[in-house]
Amino acid sequence: MVEVQRAVAEELDRLAPVIDELGRRFADAGHELALVGGPVRDAMLGRRHTDLDFTTSARPEETERLLKGWADALWDVGREFGTIGCRRGEWQVEITTYRAESYDPTSRKPEVSYGDDLAGDLSRRDFTVNAMAVRLPGREIEDPYGGVVDLAHRVIRTPGAPEDSFSDDPLRMMRAARFAAQLGFEVDDSVVEAMTAMAERIDIISAERVRDELVKLVTAPWPRRGLTLLVRTGLAERVLPELPALALERDEHHRHKDVYEHTLTVLEQAIDLEHRLGGEPDFVSRFAALMHDVGKPRTRRFLDDGTVTFHHHDVVGAKMTRKRMKALRFSNEQIAQVGLLVELHLRFHGYGSGEWTDAAVRRYVRDAGDQLERLHILTRADCTTRNRRKAQRLQRTYDDLERRIEQLAAQEELDAIRPDLDGNQIQQLLGIGPGREVGEAYRFLLDLRLDRGPLGEDLAAEALRAWWSARSGPPLPGGATIGQDAPTRRAYP
Ligand code: ATP
Ligand code: MG
Repeated sequence: MVEVQRAVAEELDRLAPVIDELGRRFADAGHELALVGGPVRDAMLGRRHTDLDFTTSARPEETERLLKGWADALWDVGREFGTIGCRRGEWQVEITTYRAESYDPTSRKPEVSYGDDLAGDLSRRDFTVNAMAVRLPGREIEDPYGGVVDLAHRVIRTPGAPEDSFSDDPLRMMRAARFAAQLGFEVDDSVVEAMTAMAERIDIISAERVRDELVKLVTAPWPRRGLTLLVRTGLAERVLPELPALALERDEHHRHKDVYEHTLTVLEQAIDLEHRLGGEPDFVSRFAALMHDVGKPRTRRFLDDGTVTFHHHDVVGAKMTRKRMKALRFSNEQIAQVGLLVELHLRFHGYGSGEWTDAAVRRYVRDAGDQLERLHILTRADCTTRNRRKAQRLQRTYDDLERRIEQLAAQEELDAIRPDLDGNQIQQLLGIGPGREVGEAYRFLLDLRLDRGPLGEDLAAEALRAWWSARSGPPLPGGATIGQDAPTRRAYP
């Protein structure tokens, strides 16, 4: 607890340039202002942000007036929900008027009405760890629902009964899973029970709001936590049914792996390879890992000899993935990227132990296009065998494929290099017709280009003339030339 207090005090000192000035401005105008939600929670966890949320007794017009002259830029796209946003230096600030909204359980959006006190505002927030505030400018901590204790126990709880909270706004069920994934916290049993009982209520929430929570969950540090919770409570069945469908019943001989468990492992292995993309959480490669095998349940066939096949699950899965992402209103770009990765995730298995021709390697690169690096990640992550030798063999084979891609790329870059002058220009400059000498001159210019980089036409022409006269000596009347093996020059100007 003492540690938490110290962490908060330190963080508030760091935020002083913003919170002290804003706190005084609002107080001088007779309004309350408090830092609230995420930044308070994260201050206690020792996480730092530059975007800060505040709550205030001031109405949006008041807030706007008080921010003018302080902020570098101001926006009011959230005005309808009571929010005014602004930027000052590196700080992003959002100030929302105290809420006392009444929800219509059948509508998709909360109806906004303003409240007059901080306590009422905090009681309407989603979880206890998000329902803490720091009053400004005095810096008194308000924690009416035991958020600090829950934070210490690393647990997600609602301030009141979870059923009431989720009736007010069913999106909070998704948010519980999202925060479990972001914070690595447990979700309290009472909350899990309410999520399970009320899962179908998520249907009234717009696809865009569900998608935004899903993206935050998937790009969080512990996505497995959030995803297994969605599956366990039945929420996944409604928002991403392809995922629970992967938990195929095992055949009695346990001949095929649990595809659901395999998928979660592939996701985690893909996360471990994100350093290849710069290290930031990458939604596209994570979601591709999550969806790569969704075609399996639909393509599963049991053969007479007892084996199982999943023919074309890549193509079927890509189609299912695109359909799901469209329903969740993802951008066309993201749909195309994830769909392509799912479609190509098996291609490498035709590589055998390196039997692909150069043409096949080129086709792999061309088909992956700008998703090649992510395809490398997905294909490498898609190996969860416990057989170490098999895993190492696959890894080495993929190393080999990547090496060949690099070699081909380097060769093709070389092949693409052209001299500064083309054949026609050579003929014109030297006054010769087509023939062997044009080829020699071309190779001379190409060597020159490789040695010295691009020269431009004038310098190249000069070098070409010098080479030509050194090579052939001064032209002699009658068309003869001096030289060891004087070439036959067909024409003179
Ligand atoms: P991030 O901005 O990284 O997504 P955050 O913790 O700031 O994380 P937001 O979704 O921005 O979360 O919400 C800000 C605060 O507003 C939360 O901490 C919570 O108190 C409150 N809040 C947001 N959405 C809801 C909701 N649907 N129901 C109740 N309270 C909410
Ligand atoms: Mg926020």
